Order: sequence, then C-alpha cells, then structure tokens
Amino acid sequence: MSPNLYEQLAERIFCKESARVCELFRMVADEKQAALMLAAPGTAAELAEQVGCSAAEAEANLETLFHRGVIFKSHKPDGMRYRLCRDIAQFHDASILWPEAPREFLELWKLYTQVEWPEYAKMISQILPKPFARVVTVQQPVDARSRILGYEDVEDIVMKATSLAVVNCTCRLVDGKCGKPVEVCLQIGKGAKYTLERGTGREVNQEEAMEIIRRSEEAGLVHVVMNKSDDSHFICNCCEDCCITLGLAAKFGFVLCDPSRFQAVVDKDKCSGCGTCADRCFFAAIGISDEEAGNVSSVAADKCMGCGLCVVTCPEEAISMVEVRKKDFIPS
Ligand code: SF4
Ligand code: SF4
Ligand code: SF4
Repeated sequence: MSPNLYEQLAERIFCKESARVCELFRMVADEKQAALMLAAPGTAAELAEQVGCSAAEAEANLETLFHRGVIFKSHKPDGMRYRLCRDIAQFHDASILWPEAPREFLELWKLYTQVEWPEYAKMISQILPKPFARVVTVQQPVDARSRILGYEDVEDIVMKATSLAVVNCTCRLVDGKCGKPVEVCLQIGKGAKYTLERGTGREVNQEEAMEIIRRSEEAGLVHVVMNKSDDSHFICNCCEDCCITLGLAAKFGFVLCDPSRFQAVVDKDKCSGCGTCADRCFFAAIGISDEEAGNVSSVAADKCMGCGLCVVTCPEEAISMVEVRKKDFIPS
C-alpha cells in the first residue's frame, strides 16, 4: 500500500516509522493543506498548479500553515517562496508555538519527546560533526572578561541584536513539570522577525531582554545559544526537567549541546561544604567530599558544562570560572 499524505510528510522529515509524527501532521493540516506541504518548495502559484487549486486558495492555506509552524517563507525576487519544515526539531519548535494549538496536540508532542525523541536525538548526535547548541556562562562569574568573546556573552549578544522578541519555552509549554518561568526564550534578529510575523511572541527592547536574562539566572536556568561564532538566532534559557536538548547528557549519555569554553573550579580554602552548588548544578558535576578539614566541594571536569550557575549562589565566593577550551572550540 502506498503511503498516505501524512506518512509521506513524516518521511520528508526523516521520521518515516513514526505514527505519532504522522498524527501530529494530521492535527496541523487537512488533506488539501498536506498536499501543498508535499508539493513545497515553491511559490503559491507553482504549488497551486501542482495540487490543482487556485493561487489564492493555495496562498491562504500556506499562510495558515506558516502560522501553525510547518511552512516557512522566504522573500525572493520572483515572489514569496514556501518550504516545508526542515526536520523534526524545526517541526517541534515552531508548531508548539502555534497559538491555537489544541491541548491534545501538545500532549502528543509530549509523548513523542518522551518515547521517541531520545533514540532519534542519539542518531542525530552521531551524524552531526558538532552539537548544534552551546551553553553560555551566566553574566556574573567570569572575572577575566577580556577572555570572553562577544558570542559567548549574553549581554553582548542582546546589545548587538537588531531586533528582539520573547516566546514561550516550547519544552516547558509541553512538559511544565519544573514550574520555572516559561516566557523566557529570546529570539534574535531574523528569529525575532519570524516570531513577530507569525504572532507567536512579543517584541522586547534590550533592557527587557536583559531583565529576562537576569530572571532566568535567578531561576537557575542555563543559557543556550546556536553553536556558531558568527550568529545566533536565539538565547534559550533551559531547565533540567523539561529541556529536550540539555537533559540528554545526564539521562542518556550523549550530547546535542556543547559546553561553554569555561569550567567551574572550587577554592577549597574558601569552601564551607554547604552543598548549595551541588543542588544548583543540574549536570551532577559537583560532589561534596570529606576531607580532613571538613566537607568541601569538587567539580568533575568531564561533567561540567560551564554554565556558571553554581558560582552565583556560593555564599563563600569559593567558585570561579576558568577558561579550559580554545577559541576555535566554537565553530564558525
Ligand atoms: S531548549 Fe531550553 S529554553 Fe529552548 S525550548 Fe527547550 S528548555 Fe526551553
Ligand atoms: S556553594 Fe560554595 S561554599 Fe558551598 S559547597 Fe559549594 S563551593 Fe563550597
Ligand atoms: S559545576 Fe555545574 S553548575 Fe557549575 S558551571 Fe559546571 S555545570 Fe554549571
């Protein structure tokens, strides 16, 4: 039996075997819309011709699908061109922000991320030359600021942004078990333009964006950006429980996110062994060991992601961040 429209869509984003992905597409698009998605890429007129409808009808449906997060647009000299979401990650991130998404749709995404995503993510991690995301150290702790490069300084990224918007964190929107702030995902430059055109977030200025960064740090959220030295379309503020990217290392032992170039180091002479840092670290990188002089904490270098969250709450100011990776660790 030849695959139906939704099975073909799942195949197009490399999820051929997934009944859940087929069902997610079915919830987003009726059969006419699914046919347009399969015909993409192209202009509305080109796609209309392929599926046998008017250009006006095709355009209206494509705009609906853009709003729902499965079709992406680009302005070209020959007019607006439409394309299907590239892969499951783009389908996930964009469609969950569909403002009118029914609760069952979000529940199905939750099931997908719990049951199928870890295996799929493992396969991606084996294919990618470098993880697509990277941790950025929080604002306060790296004292030798001259060694921080622009693209690993959230304030610098925010201040240089041409436009900014904030959207809900898709992982917490679906899962939400951690109870941490949800409206904290910053979109930058073309990411912000896309957000505002779709109506899935609100525009913020640089001051408001920095306030979101501070609020995220207070809540113990880890900053994550695109793993590139020249650009990032987002600053994610991620939690341990819900994040479908950061949690993989601790739970399954593989990574889709690189650490920052920094690592936490404890000054044993200052450390009182209170354990606050160990509670704060969601990569389980800090242990409290018994020493002659009393309990002290120590950091496991292979587990530390360089987020800096442990530094800001240490009552003895016993932790500092040191540079452990060269500049070329970050791909261009
Ligand atoms: S990657 Fe992090 S901030 Fe982004 S949506 Fe997931 S948990 Fe939220
Ligand atoms: S929070 Fe500071 S003082 Fe407390 S155990 Fe950690 S390093 Fe030591
Ligand atoms: S020890 Fe944990 S909390 Fe501290 S910087 Fe490393 S990963 Fe972050």
